[in-house]
Amino acid sequence: MGALGDRIRIHTGDITRLVVDAIVNAASSSLLGGGGVDGAIHRAAGPELVAECRTLNGCKTGDAKLTRGYRLPARFIIHTVGPVWQGGGEGEAGLLASCYRRSLEIASDQGFLTIAFPAISTGIYGYPKIEATGIAVDTVTDFLRQDTLLETVTFCCFDDQTAELYRQTVASAGKG
Ligand code: ADP
Repeated sequence: MGALGDRIRIHTGDITRLVVDAIVNAASSSLLGGGGVDGAIHRAAGPELVAECRTLNGCKTGDAKLTRGYRLPARFIIHTVGPVWQGGGEGEAGLLASCYRRSLEIASDQGFLTIAFPAISTGIYGYPKIEATGIAVDTVTDFLRQDTLLETVTFCCFDDQTAELYRQTVASAGKG
């Protein structure tokens, strides 16, 4: 098992292209598809995905559910529902941390070695990016400290600016 820093990767690009055991979807609570990364994942996975999602009875904010990856290069999809940003007084931070933790728990329970996360809640759901990145990095780091199974967690950033923010956040978390 490598050092903690070696187990966290930052990638710039489209999460639907990643060859990992599971990609995480920033889903809506119905799990029936939407815009942003959710729409991209459903388009790339094909119509079999929404058919499986229909059997799952939705998902609560902060929780996560597993499906197959269908036409994606990733074998599985972990669908998690991030909080909509409402100013920060509605438990958003705890719910966002829970999205990362529940997704990692599912991955670990399944014996997955590689997982990739998008920047959950930071698009349509409006979560401030700096705060969301801090929660993402802290929650993943804490999980990897106590989990020995997961080999790599990739933060898949859609643009260079987000990737740079993740790099800085990971670097300063390492010093703490
Ligand atoms: P939410 O509703 O949780 O805010 P969004 O999909 O609107 O979810 O945005 C979450 C993040 O995913 C944003 O930072 C957005 O730029 C990014 N994103 C959108 N499409 C993709 C994609 N294909 N791959 C990776 N990240 C993506």
